[in-house]
Amino acid sequence: MKRDYYEILGVGKNATESELKSAYRKLAMKWHPDRNPGDKQAEDRFKEAAEAYGVLSDNERRAAYDRYGHGGVSANAAAGGSGFRSGFEGFPFGDIFEDFFGNTARGQSRPQRGEDVQTKVRMTLEDAFAGKQVKVAYQRPEVCTTCQGDGARPGTHPAVCPTCKGLGEIRIQQGFFAMSTTCVRCGGEGQVITHPCGTCHGEGMVHSHKEITVAVPAGVETGNVLRMTGAGGTIPGGRSGDLHVVIEVERHSVFTRKGKDLVCRLPLSFAQAALGETLALATPEGEVKVNFPEGTQAGDVIRLKGRGMPEIGRAGRGDILVEAQIQTPTKLTKEQRKLFEQLAELEGTSLRPKSGRKAKGVRAKMSDWVKRVGQAVREWATGVVGVVSTPKAAKKLL
Ligand SMILES: [Zn+2]
Ligand SMILES: [Zn+2]
Repeated sequence: MKRDYYEILGVGKNATESELKSAYRKLAMKWHPDRNPGDKQAEDRFKEAAEAYGVLSDNERRAAYDRYGHGGVSANAAAGGSGFRSGFEGFPFGDIFEDFFGNTARGQSRPQRGEDVQTKVRMTLEDAFAGKQVKVAYQRPEVCTTCQGDGARPGTHPAVCPTCKGLGEIRIQQGFFAMSTTCVRCGGEGQVITHPCGTCHGEGMVHSHKEITVAVPAGVETGNVLRMTGAGGTIPGGRSGDLHVVIEVERHSVFTRKGKDLVCRLPLSFAQAALGETLALATPEGEVKVNFPEGTQAGDVIRLKGRGMPEIGRAGRGDILVEAQIQTPTKLTKEQRKLFEQLAELEGTSLRPKSGRKAKGVRAKMSDWVKRVGQAVREWATGVVGVVSTPKAAKKLL
């Protein structure tokens, strides 16, 4: 003959939820197998209290019990499709024991939160610059809707694990030492599925494809992770996990990123670098003018303030840095060659002979001049040339 649930817990028929909980807590603490190793009676008391609390703490089942007694919540009554679970499954240990015994109340504690899942989003630099609404497809573990997560075929219920009698762990007594291990049969769940759900094959969970629209903020860069709270895996009776959206910004043909700055190089010819030039640069927000001043050197950097990437959640923006890349021509046209030769002659740096006459540098010309002046002075001094009478006159000879 089964004892009355209220009697077991030592509470009145009108006991509140917290009264039930505190009564159960006291009994469970008293009769817990860890505190009464090897005591069969204590274990029975413990299970009895757990069963009573399991039923009375569930409003639906408590109402059924109040109306029909033990028959209202028995496995047989439940099998009729009334939706009531068998009185013994699902020991309500978790919240009661966690603070006292850690996870030892059961072989393993149920997770409180669904799994976090991750997915990747690729986007262009332009999209990262402006921000974008992105549709993201991903997979997440979800509670099976056919069996509501208990893994049992609708109309059936998980049975108490015959190996561990619902405790989820096996206790081994060796002399003074008592050890407990997670029950292999039920994996610590304390219950086994006799008729598996056809949808999830008894797992209680399924993998489901999901789609979500994510507002990617302006300024993201590769490696940034957007957390979508609650979009991750679901779990029976717990919070959902999160979805982590990992951002990958594609390489850009012009710009590389340095933090919030955008760096690029613009090619300039010798002439452009020497004379100065204004070039158009296509940026993520349209064309901007870049002014290279006269005499730009290779590697000089023009900074376009505030034209770089936005910062996530801030008002500021980075800069665009444009590096001058001076291009040396590799193939010259006839005309270009002529012009470069003229330039070289002007600069007096050319060592190459020019067609026809000999090209001379400034230094060579100077030494010629000195030689010729010297010659003239010597001739005047020795009186070889009579008409030359003064150094001034000598100069005229040149
Ligand atoms: Zn078991
Ligand atoms: Zn299922």
